[in-house]
Amino acid sequence: MNSRNQSYIIYLLLFVAIIVMVVYNFSQRGTTSEVSINQLAEDIKQGRVSKIEENENRLRVVYKDLTEAISTKEADATLVEQLLHLGVTQEQLHPNNISIIIKPPSPWLGVITALGYILPFLILIGAFFFIFRQAQGTNNAAMSFGKSRARMFTGDHPTVTFADVAGVDEAKEELKEVVEFLREPQKFIALGARIPKGVLLVGPPGTGKTLLAKAVSGEAGVPFFSISGSEFVEMFVGVGASRVRDLFDQAKRHSPCIVFVDEIDAVGRQRGAGLGGSHDEREQTLNQLLVEMDGFDTDTNIIIMAATNRPDILDPALLRPGRFDRRVVLDRPDVRGREAILRVHVKGKPLDSDVDLSILARATPGFVGADLENLVNEAAILAARRNRKSISMAEFEEAIERVIAGPERKSRLISQEEKRIIAYHEAGHAVVMNALPEADPVQKVSIIARGMAAGYTLSLPQEDRTLMPRKKLIAEMVGLLGGRAAEELVFDDITSGAGNDLERVTQLARTMVTRLGMSEELGPMVYGQKEELIFLGREIAEQRDYSEAVAEQIDREVRRLVNEAYQKARQLLIQYRDKLDAVAQRLLEVETLSREEFEAIFPPPVPKHSGIPSMVSNN
Ligand code: ADP
Ligand code: MG
Ligand code: ZN
Repeated sequence: MNSRNQSYIIYLLLFVAIIVMVVYNFSQRGTTSEVSINQLAEDIKQGRVSKIEENENRLRVVYKDLTEAISTKEADATLVEQLLHLGVTQEQLHPNNISIIIKPPSPWLGVITALGYILPFLILIGAFFFIFRQAQGTNNAAMSFGKSRARMFTGDHPTVTFADVAGVDEAKEELKEVVEFLREPQKFIALGARIPKGVLLVGPPGTGKTLLAKAVSGEAGVPFFSISGSEFVEMFVGVGASRVRDLFDQAKRHSPCIVFVDEIDAVGRQRGAGLGGSHDEREQTLNQLLVEMDGFDTDTNIIIMAATNRPDILDPALLRPGRFDRRVVLDRPDVRGREAILRVHVKGKPLDSDVDLSILARATPGFVGADLENLVNEAAILAARRNRKSISMAEFEEAIERVIAGPERKSRLISQEEKRIIAYHEAGHAVVMNALPEADPVQKVSIIARGMAAGYTLSLPQEDRTLMPRKKLIAEMVGLLGGRAAEELVFDDITSGAGNDLERVTQLARTMVTRLGMSEELGPMVYGQKEELIFLGREIAEQRDYSEAVAEQIDREVRRLVNEAYQKARQLLIQYRDKLDAVAQRLLEVETLSREEFEAIFPPPVPKHSGIPSMVSNN
C-alpha cells in the first residue's frame, strides 16, 4: 500500500461520513411538526388521531384531517402503556378508532446510528495512520523492507526498439545475440552453448545505456525488470541484500527475462576500500548479487544487464567470467552517429526545408544522445516561442549555443567600461586563435552574456579528434590566454574575468607535463597515480609517487609552459594590434560576430577550413 492509496482511503472515509450524516439528519427531520407525548394522548382522547406508526421510539402520527406529526415515546415503556398511563382509555385505543402500527427496527437505522458513533474514530485512526506512514519518509520502507522495488515492464508492448537507438551499431550488433537467445533459448541450449549471464553496458552518461537495455527487452519481447543500483542501498542494514534476493525470485518466476541494474557502480564498487558509513551494507548487497548470479543454472533463462559510466571502479569479482563477462561499450557518437540520433529525435517534428542534419551533426562534436535530444527539444521550444509552424536552421543553431553555454542573458546590465574590457578580452581570444596556424578557426565571438560567462569565443576544429598533437595543445593554451593578454596590453590592468581561462590553462599544462609526457625536461613518464577516494564519492586524489625534487621540477615546467604561452599570446596581439582594436570596436557595435564577419576584419594569416565547434572559451 503506498501513500497515494492511503490518502485515497481517507477521502473515501470522509465522503462516507458526510453521506451518513446527511442521511441520518434527514431521517430524523421532516417537514412535519413535532408533538409531545402528552399532547398526543390529549389528541387521542379527543378522537382526532387516526393512525400511529411506531418505529423504535419515534412515532409518526397521522390525524383524521390528514395532517401528520412526529413524536417520541419514552424508551423503557411500550407506547400503549404510556398512553394508558396518560389517561387514554382502552376504548379510545380500540382498532376501530385508531390503528397502531409497530414497525420492526430498521436494520439501516441501527447501522447508520452505529456509524455515526464509529466514524469519527475511524477517521481519526485513518488520519493517524496516514501521518505515521508519511513520517516514514519518502522511501516508504516500513512495510516493504526487503522487497525489491524493481519495475517490471512486460514485453507485450515494447515501447522501445533498436530503431529508437541510433549511432551505436556495434553495441546493437552484440546485443542482437542476447535478443536471439531470449527469443529462442532452446536453440542455444541444444548445442550446449553457454549464454552470457551478464552484459555490462559501459559508456559516458547520456549515451543511451538505459535506452539500449530497454530496447533489448522490447526486441526480445520478454519481461524487463529494471532497478537502479542506488535503490539497493538504503538506510536499513540488510535491505539491499534482501532486495537482491527478492528481485531474483521475481525474475525466476518470469523467465526468460531481463534484469537490468542501472548505475551498478552504486553497489558494485570495489569492496574493502570504502570508509563511508554504508559500505558494509553495500558489500553485503554486492555479495548477494554475486551469489545470485552464480546461483542460476544454465537453463535459468535470465540475462542480467547492467549499466555504468565507471567501469574502472567496479569490483573485479563482478567482471570475471560467468558474471558480467560481456562488455558492450557505448562511445560518444561520431559525426554519422550524431546525424542518425538527430534523425531519430526529429521524427514527427515539422522541419523547415533548410534544415540539414549533417551540418548540425558536424556542429555538435562531443554531444551525446541525451544532449542531441535536448538540442532538438530546445529548437522546438524556440520555434514555438517564435510562433513558427516549423523548426528552421536558425533555431537549431541557437539551440546548439544554448546547450553548450546556456541561454543568452541580454538583460544583464554592464557598464560601458566593463563592456569595453569584455570586448577586448574576447577579441584577444579570437585574434590569437586566428593568428595561430594550429588553432581551430574562430566560429563566433560574442560579448552577450551566456550562462555564467560574460562573453564567449567559439572555435571550430576541422573534424572530431582523438589525438591531440602537442603543438595543438600549446595553441589552445595560447588562445585561452589571449583574453588576459589583451586586457593587460590595452588597459594596463587585468581583471578577474580570466579566472576560468587560467584554470583551464593550468590544468592543461599540468596534464601535458604529468600525464602526457610532453615536457622535454621530465621526459615521457607519468607522474602521480590517480586514486579514487571512495568516501568522497567522485573525488579523485593524486597519489604522489615522486620525490619533492621532481615535484618542484613539475611546478617549474608547468609554469614555464604557461608563461611561454602567455608571452606568445602577448606577442601575437602586439603584432596584430590593429586587428585587435578593429574586432573589439566591431564587437562593441554589434555584440556578436559570425565567422564570416570576423574574418572580413581579420582574414586568417594561414587559411583554415570550416569545421565543428569544440571549445567555448569563456571570458
Ligand atoms: P544513459 O543511461 O547512458 O545515461 P539514457 O539511455 O538515459 O543514457 O539516454 C537519455 C536519453 O537520451 C534517451 O532517453 C534518449 O532519448 C537519448 N539518447 C541517448 N542515446 C541515444 C541514442 N544512441 N539514440 C537515440 N537517442 C538517444
Ligand atoms: Mg542511464
Ligand atoms: Zn576568456
